[in-house]
Amino acid sequence: MYDPENIFAKILRGEIPCNKVFEDDHALAFRDIAPQAPVHVLVIPKGAYVSMDDFSENASDAEIAGFIRAVGQVARELGLVEPGYRLLANHGPDSHQEVPHLHVHIFAGQPLGPMLTTKT
Ligand code: 5GP
Repeated sequence: MYDPENIFAKILRGEIPCNKVFEDDHALAFRDIAPQAPVHVLVIPKGAYVSMDDFSENASDAEIAGFIRAVGQVARELGLVEPGYRLLANHGPDSHQEVPHLHVHIFAGQPLGPMLTTKT
């Protein structure tokens, strides 16, 4: 169930501010409030989708194409293609997803090291 009071829904409605880097019909991108890399941007679809699971099952082809194109465009506009970047999208409790509105993290700005460090 999508919670319309989640923090990214409030950002989409303009009820709380964000440091916006990109916006089009399908997506909004803004700086993470607690960056974990020199560049840490979140890209969110404008539709009400909890996570990639919800989005990939229920979004229209136009929404999916628009969102994926937006992720690539944000990375290009930030100059990240040449140095490289990492994308991450969390779904559900094991991933520690905190905000229940689909978001893709873009990390960049330094060598990012191993992909995962896991606790056993
Ligand atoms: P998750 O763990 O759900 O994949 O990531 C949620 C991300 O949202 C975290 O990196 C967190 O720092 C970021 N975040 C949480 N609240 C806010 C906010 O109000 N504004 C912005 N810009 N980022 C937020």
